Parts: sequence; C-alpha cells; structure tokens
Amino acid sequence: MINLECLKVRYDRNSPVLTIDSLRINRHERVAIIGPSGAGKSTLLRSIKGYVRPDEGKVEVLGVNLRSAKRHEWRRVNRKIGLIYQQFHLVPRLTVLRNVLCGRLGYANPLRSLLGIFSDEDVNIALSAIREVGLEDILHQRADTLSGGEQQRVAVARMLAQQPSIILADEPVSSLDPVRAENILELITRVHAHHDTALIMSLHQPELAKQFAQRIIGLRNGRVIFDGACDELDNSKLQEI
Ligand code: ADP
Repeated sequence: MINLECLKVRYDRNSPVLTIDSLRINRHERVAIIGPSGAGKSTLLRSIKGYVRPDEGKVEVLGVNLRSAKRHEWRRVNRKIGLIYQQFHLVPRLTVLRNVLCGRLGYANPLRSLLGIFSDEDVNIALSAIREVGLEDILHQRADTLSGGEQQRVAVARMLAQQPSIILADEPVSSLDPVRAENILELITRVHAHHDTALIMSLHQPELAKQFAQRIIGLRNGRVIFDGACDELDNSKLQEI
C-alpha cells in the first residue's frame, strides 16, 4: 500500500530533513509516527500525500510511484488519501451536508463541482458518512453554529466521504486537553476499524500512540530509530526518540 525506499527529502540545499532507507505500511495497519518537534513527522505524511517531492528515492503509494507519476495518476492516488488536521478547515457558512460533500469534489466532474452540483450517489455517500459520525440530526445546520467536537466530527465525515484507502492524521490532537484528545482518537480509530484503510497518525504524546496504534514508528532527526509493536517500545527505547 505504501512503500518508501531510499528516500531523501530536502526543503532547501541543506542536508535532508527526512532520510528513510526502507518503510512499508500495509492495508489495515494503524500506525503512529512519534518524535520530537522537527523530527520529520509532517514531512513524512506530506511525502505520502504527494505534497512534497523527494529529491531521491521511491514513494510508492497505492501502486503509483509519486516521484514519476503523471498528473492523472497523482490525482487518482490523492483523492484516495484522506487527511485530518487539528484545524478542521470547514466552510463556516455551509451546512454539515455541504461541508461533507466537499469530500466528493475529487470525484465530481470539474464543471459540476464548480457549480456545487452533486450526484445522488455523492449525496448518499455523504449521508452515510454523516450517520457514521452521529450527526444525522443536524444535517442542515451551518458549520459555524456547531461545537468544536461536532466540527471535528464533520471533518472526519468529510474525509470519509472521500472513501479513502489511506487516512493520514497530522497531529490531530496536539494542543487538546486529554479528554478531548482521547475522544477524537477514539472516533478516528473507530472509523478506521470499519473501513478498508490504513491509518497513519503523527502524535506528540507517546502514551496516546501506545493506546491507539498497533505499530509505532519513532523518528529523530529525520530518521527512523524505532519501528515496532507498541509493547516493544519500552522506556529505554522511548528515551532515544
Ligand atoms: P515535525 O512534524 O516532526 O515537527 P517537520 O516535518 O514539520 O517535523 O519538520 C522537519 C524539519 O523540516 C524541521 O527542521 C523543519 O524546520 C523543516 N521544515 C519543515 N517544513 C519546512 C518548509 N516548508 N521549509 C523549510 N523547512 C521546513
């Protein structure tokens, strides 16, 4: 599903901020990327999404090498990768349904999506995503009238409407209080369990990674220094990250 080989990513002429010899992530895996600030967690997720182009190596995602992909191949892969950030990026004046339909834009033909016209199939997919996060009673409510927790669920439903094969969550809970952080991670991992996807989340807090992931990848200075099951990450290994 994801296969990185001999990867080097630089943002400028300086030394690489990410150097990965070999990393594979398979379907159904639930992976947490941990590491201190600046370790390269976001850069790794952005490389998988195709938002940064590595200088060297292979980034194969869903069978396509993103370094040499043609535009239509890149688009096909890109729409199968759902992203969750801590900021929800909803359109405030649009309803819950309209916001979730935005997740279908990658599938609609350009003219229809420009006019905001969606097919019955798109609407049904959006409705099913909304039901899955439990927001069916406030379908027509504007996003800017919702609580923070409800907005987060809209963002998850919009990501689900993309029918992703890979879910990337970039620091989804870094500045939240522990209860809200756990609620959101519970929602994300529940959604992952019900769909045929891989989940990769970057997390600051190792204890949340241990609680919600199956596999942990520890980064330091842009290199993988731990890759294993949660129970293999003992305190001495944790201190190295
Ligand atoms: P993390 O997500 O672990 O905090 P990042 O992937 O954001 O780490 O950053 C890794 C390194 O790349 C850091 O040294 C950071 O300063 C640098 N970096 C990140 N984004 C950019 C950018 N757009 N331009 C230049 N350097 C960047």
